[in-house]
Amino acid sequence: MWATDGGFRTVELERRLLRSYLIVFTAAFCIAAAAVHFAFVNILDRQITAQLEDLARAGIRSVLFVGNTIRIDETEISNRSLLTQDQGLQWFDTRGRLIAEQGLSANDSQNFGSVTMPIRNPRTGKRSGTVRATQWTGPEHAYIDALDIGLLVGTLLALLGSGAGGLVLARRAVRPLERSFRTLREFTADASHELRSPLAAITTTAEAALRDAYRDPEHDRMRFENIADGARQMSRLTGDLLLLAGADRSLERELFVVDLVATVAAAIERNRSRFDAAGITLGLTAEEPATAYGNPDQIARIVTNLLENAFRYTPSGGSVTVEIRKEPAQTLIAVSDTGIGIPSEHLERIFDRFWRADPVRSPGGSGLGLAIARALARRHGGDVTVTSRYGVGSTFVVAFPVRPPLSRF
Ligand code: ADP
Repeated sequence: MWATDGGFRTVELERRLLRSYLIVFTAAFCIAAAAVHFAFVNILDRQITAQLEDLARAGIRSVLFVGNTIRIDETEISNRSLLTQDQGLQWFDTRGRLIAEQGLSANDSQNFGSVTMPIRNPRTGKRSGTVRATQWTGPEHAYIDALDIGLLVGTLLALLGSGAGGLVLARRAVRPLERSFRTLREFTADASHELRSPLAAITTTAEAALRDAYRDPEHDRMRFENIADGARQMSRLTGDLLLLAGADRSLERELFVVDLVATVAAAIERNRSRFDAAGITLGLTAEEPATAYGNPDQIARIVTNLLENAFRYTPSGGSVTVEIRKEPAQTLIAVSDTGIGIPSEHLERIFDRFWRADPVRSPGGSGLGLAIARALARRHGGDVTVTSRYGVGSTFVVAFPVRPPLSRF
């Protein structure tokens, strides 16, 4: 499966993530295994050295000093009792010549550990020779080999497990990115599509005017009006897109106390004449005082967008009521209409950018109105929700928290 989003390959990213996980895990496991190995070898080493030192000291105790030379007391019991099957003692004179030996004699330095101690004459304090205690370390090497095999198998199994875990983690990490890229691609396609229609209208009108040899002022005026319409539409759309793009910015510098009743009443007054002209009654009921915190223009924009929709989707003879209600934790603005309503299967989608139930019945709408209303409400720590019955009417409710939306800073 190769998912490509504008040159972005998610499978490649997944592989790269997995490779990084595996490099990190391998390094961590190898370091841990090496630490265990060295700690174990060190403990064994110290244990063997301690045993050999005991043995060498016993070897020194069995030395008899005769003048300047030394002799070994073969009957000295401590040597024999200290010697095990795998140990040996060797005594050397000052020139390094072997004087005597007991038990095992070392012949393979690899599998033998040894400790050499000087023999000093207790009377003169002079060095009279050396004693070497030796031990066969075959069993210890076998322990270390067994431990190394265990560590190797354990590391491989852990790597296999972490490889599988890493794959799941990499998939999980990439999935939201994949979704974001898909949304971005759809958004870019929708935005370009929306900009294309007015742009095409402007281009064809201008080209037709340029081609016409005969100039008719009335005809030219209509063409200029068309061009201006297209330009206005594009400017509205780019304004909306910019507003949406900035809707996740912090409100920190725009935090004003907004009088909701005054804001809604002003929006109603701005719209009243066209509602009257369309034969739609428009009313307001409000619990006063009602306030919200944030950007006054943006709060007015939320209300305007909802009124715009209520006007667009309510037939003549219908009514639109706006109600401002206060609850303990939030203040609500409900815009209810007796319009065409929204089928339940569309309720989740109406807040999506550029989504329109029926573009034919939404002339002039770009499908951004509700997306903007919701994004701005969320920017203010609130939300916009809807309840609707198809053919009966819809109610859009904007909720603002009664406290300033500090959690966003
Ligand atoms: P538009 O610019 O198309 O109105 P909106 O985002 O404002 O875009 O609305 C998206 C869609 O939701 C509309 O196309 C319409 O189908 C539906 N809609 C929004 N408000 C209403 C309403 N008050 N009554 C019925 N349908 C509505």
